[in-house]
Amino acid sequence: MSLRAVKGMKDILPDEISKWHRLESAFRSRAERYGFREARFPIVEPTALFVRSIGENTDIVEKEMYTFTDRGDKSLTLRPEGTASAVRAYIQHNVQAQEPVTKWYYIGPMYRRERPAKGRYRQFYQAGIEVFGDPGPYVDAEIIDMVVGFISSLGISEVEVLVNSLGGTATRAKYTEALLAYLEPFRSELCSDCQRRMDANPLRVLDCKVPRCAAIAADAPSILGHLDDEDRAHFDGLQESLTRLGTPYRVEGSLVRGLDYYSRTLFEVLGKGEQLGAQNALLGGGRYDQMVGSLGGPDTPAIGFAMGLERLLMAMPSEPEATHVDVFIVAAQPSVRAEAALLGRQLRDAGLRVESDLRGGSLKSQLRRADKMSARIAMILGEAEVDDGVVQLKDLQKKTQDEIPRTEAAARAKTILG
Ligand code: AMP
Repeated sequence: MSLRAVKGMKDILPDEISKWHRLESAFRSRAERYGFREARFPIVEPTALFVRSIGENTDIVEKEMYTFTDRGDKSLTLRPEGTASAVRAYIQHNVQAQEPVTKWYYIGPMYRRERPAKGRYRQFYQAGIEVFGDPGPYVDAEIIDMVVGFISSLGISEVEVLVNSLGGTATRAKYTEALLAYLEPFRSELCSDCQRRMDANPLRVLDCKVPRCAAIAADAPSILGHLDDEDRAHFDGLQESLTRLGTPYRVEGSLVRGLDYYSRTLFEVLGKGEQLGAQNALLGGGRYDQMVGSLGGPDTPAIGFAMGLERLLMAMPSEPEATHVDVFIVAAQPSVRAEAALLGRQLRDAGLRVESDLRGGSLKSQLRRADKMSARIAMILGEAEVDDGVVQLKDLQKKTQDEIPRTEAAARAKTILG
């Protein structure tokens, strides 16, 4: 039996990694410009954390979690998303006592047992941010503007920003009644999941992908018609601020998203390029003003979003892969291999990326490897060069060769590399 990676989980090999590094460092630098600091949470959490935050009647909790019993009797789950862990950590470390507003970002793998498809995996990476302690709506607009600017800085130009408001607790209760009154006559036409959802959490019906359910949901009353005055003022403030920032957006009253914890602001950014196929949601986020309190912390308004890194990479224009080698050192005779290793260390200490073939081999085969790695420079060291304290420096792009003092090797290489 050949052993393969788990279905829906992918290896990311070195040929692909530079794109990942570019994306992650662009995200870090953007988030830090907005005052966010990185936090890292465990990949495994108590199952109850996700059941209580994401919601019992969501697809994630009902069908998609990787849950197992630890050797004792503890039920643990591979995290399906990052917000629940952030909230748990925020409460556990009593962060609200240290600062009124907390801004965190994270990057890491998430796990959901979904049906694998292009752009949909069972292990995927998210980069996200969370803001605790600011009720909005101006911070809501700021993070939407931030992420739209970030996406555009990646060269992804065709996106659509959808915003909605789910209202606060009072609005939700009133709206749920209106929604149930609308859905009741269609009960028997809904899929069995939705019939159950009607009793457990009617809003979930609006998110169902079964065509008949989606058609019924399309004519359901909009939550936007049920916002109370405070929710309305919040949503108006969000839109005013987005407009002032020049962030294009569209109000989409049917946007509910798959997690239960949202209140008020909800948003999603869709990619429109063909590369994405059906999985075109680049990111989703929203406000979760009740979650900190409901998990046992002090009542704290909060908002966040998470982006799928694989999907961003698919939507990003491709760039030619840069070489990972600046200087390739060639040992002209076996007798100078130890000296070649020393030269390598000296150049690396000076900050250069250096490769060599420590197995030895002919001059020609070593130079071929230098070419294959697209090294810009080869430095050839033979017995004569070692005796004279020099190296032969070959500029492999310009096809020139110079003998230079070994003491100048690092500086000369840096000048050539610019
Ligand atoms: P969510 O945590 O469900 O709000 O998802 C936020 C973002 O994560 C989505 O917009 C996708 O970009 C990404 N995402 C969610 N699930 C998957 C998955 N199974 N595979 C790849 N990306 C995903």
